[in-house]
Amino acid sequence: MDPRREPQRSCVGCGATAGRSTLLRTALGPGGAVVADPHGRLSGRGAYVHPTSACVDRAIRRGSLARSLRSGIGAEEARKLREVVERVQGNG
Ligand SMILES: [Zn+2]
Repeated sequence: MDPRREPQRSCVGCGATAGRSTLLRTALGPGGAVVADPHGRLSGRGAYVHPTSACVDRAIRRGSLARSLRSGIGAEEARKLREVVERVQGNG
């Protein structure tokens, strides 16, 4: 795919704009929990964040992720998101 045509999204952690494929999508899962949605399977509102601990931590701590999804993020959801990011980082 022509990278110039890739949809651009901004990271809710650092605010930088990046191609959608380089960001991790998060969305509300069944029951309204905030979950990582790397394959874009969940419909509805999504928030994009760089798949790095720094950006995910910032997005959670600053509340920008919760705000984007119009939801709250509990400690358990935050822990799971960090786990996903650590796995992604480990693969790359
Ligand atoms: Zn970022």
